Amino acid sequence: MPFTEFVAGALGGRLKFAPAIGLTIPATIWTTEKFCYKCGCETKIVNFIRLNLNQAFPGHPHADVTIYDFDEWPEGRAILLKLLPKDLLASHNIGEVKPRFGGWSSRPQISNGCAHCGSLHSMMHDLDDIDTLAPGPEIQLNLESNLLQQLEDIRNVIDRWWFEQG
Ligand SMILES: [Zn+2]
Repeated sequence: MPFTEFVAGALGGRLKFAPAIGLTIPATIWTTEKFCYKCGCETKIVNFIRLNLNQAFPGHPHADVTIYDFDEWPEGRAILLKLLPKDLLASHNIGEVKPRFGGWSSRPQISNGCAHCGSLHSMMHDLDDIDTLAPGPEIQLNLESNLLQQLEDIRNVIDRWWFEQG
C-alpha cells in the first residue's frame, strides 16, 4: 500500500486493522472422498474449513482451518461440533466430526469418521485422496476475538490493515 494512500485513509477514518474481527464470515467445508476401511462404503471427510473473507472484503485472502485446530483448547470442541452439525454433514455424505478414541491417546481426539458406520478416519490419511478435494456445504463462522486468540492460522491472515469500501 503506497504511503500517501495509507495516510489519507488513516486520516479519513477508513483504514482499519483486522476488519474481520467480530464479524460472521461465510465459510466452505472442503472434503475428499474415501472408501471406508471397515464397511467399504464411499464416504467423505472434512479436510479443512475455508473462510471466504473475500465475500465480505473483496480482494482479501482466504484463511483455512482444520478440525484438529479446534482441539487445541478446552472450548474449541464445543465450538466445532456446533459449527459442523451431524445432520448437515450426513446430508452431504460426510462422516460425523466428533471426539473418538484412536488408541494413540488416553483421551478421545477430534476426528473424521465414516458417514455410514461411524468408524474413525485417522488424520494420517486425510490427504491420501487429495485429487478428490472439492467444496462441500457452506457454514457461517463468527470471528470472535476469543476464538481468534486460539486459531493462529486465521489470525495470521486477518491481522492486516484494510481500507473500508465506500
Ligand atoms: Zn464405514
